[in-house]
Amino acid sequence: MKNLTDLKALLASPRNVAIVTHFKPDADALGSSLGLGGYLKKKGHHVDVITPSDYPEFLNWMVGSEAVIALSKKSKGPEIKSAAVFEAAEIIFCLDFSNLKRINELGDLVAKARAAKVMIDHHLEPEQFAGFEKWDVTAASTAQLVYDLIDSLGDRDLIDPPIANCLYAGLMTDTGGFRHNNTTAREFKVAEELTALGANPSEIARLVYDTNSLGRLRLTGFVLSQKLTVLPEFRTAYMTLSQEELKKFDVQTGDTEGLVNYGLSIKDVQMSVLMYDRGEEIKISFRSLGAFSVNDLARRHFEGGGHKNASGGSSKLSLEQALEKLIKLLPEYKEKLNLNS
Ligand code: 5GP
Ligand code: MN
Repeated sequence: MKNLTDLKALLASPRNVAIVTHFKPDADALGSSLGLGGYLKKKGHHVDVITPSDYPEFLNWMVGSEAVIALSKKSKGPEIKSAAVFEAAEIIFCLDFSNLKRINELGDLVAKARAAKVMIDHHLEPEQFAGFEKWDVTAASTAQLVYDLIDSLGDRDLIDPPIANCLYAGLMTDTGGFRHNNTTAREFKVAEELTALGANPSEIARLVYDTNSLGRLRLTGFVLSQKLTVLPEFRTAYMTLSQEELKKFDVQTGDTEGLVNYGLSIKDVQMSVLMYDRGEEIKISFRSLGAFSVNDLARRHFEGGGHKNASGGSSKLSLEQALEKLIKLLPEYKEKLNLNS
């Protein structure tokens, strides 16, 4: 961060701080928010963490998650509360996103707020809305950027086991359990340091990956046996889930996470796509290997973006039409999809 000294000065006295992360937060989004929140509280600040939606149940072990102000379709309460929080905030941290669209209706509130804004993120093509930016696409996770920030503020020793576990969870999941090509010596170094500070790798892996409901596991079985299609010519795998199917398996927030990766585990597949019908829109997850950029595809055609090899998007079309749109686009990308071995 260029103006770290200014941020340090700002944080030198107790502040009203709001931390906000993206819609349907994953472990990196929520873990970096609660890790940073835990640290700032220890420094004497008043901290509120706000999410534009609910978050997966498998993250509710994170210390501080019980106090998250999560917007909900069921009640206007959290939305009213978050408007008051942004209004009163002296500093707003925006974590794991860099386009205000990613926080839906909260985007306007953040844009208008008088608070100093700090954006910490690792996604491609950021928007400029924050006076302080810690933006690094070479970092596998936002959690490790939060770790770096705490370290560069000279407060590494304030990272206790609950904070370390939150940050470790973000690092672990955004590297796909230290398997994706964003895993470098730097990620292992942060993992090592967080572990030395009290993170518990086996426990976090169990809490995040091995607390499936039977329904979620059955959903995986159903998708793999009935819904997974491979188009060898385009080295593409795709899966779709209709609203009825989501209902049938009682799919909860987070239950579809990870499904898209199964497509990429097939030999010779370069891109995997999961589309599911959220009712208000179709949500799409893209994953790819090597040189093929799903960020480009998602950004150009599905109002989304993310990382080169892991992106998301959406469509207002029907599920069938969205799939048709994708399939029609594939010939245009055929050459690029066949570039990698
Ligand atoms: P996922 O497929 O797991 O939802 O998301 C993959 C990556 O793309 C994540 O880093 C996520 O933050 C990002 N992403 C997901 N959906 C969207 C979207 O609609 N717009 C943008 N810009 N990024 C997204
Ligand atoms: Mn992330």
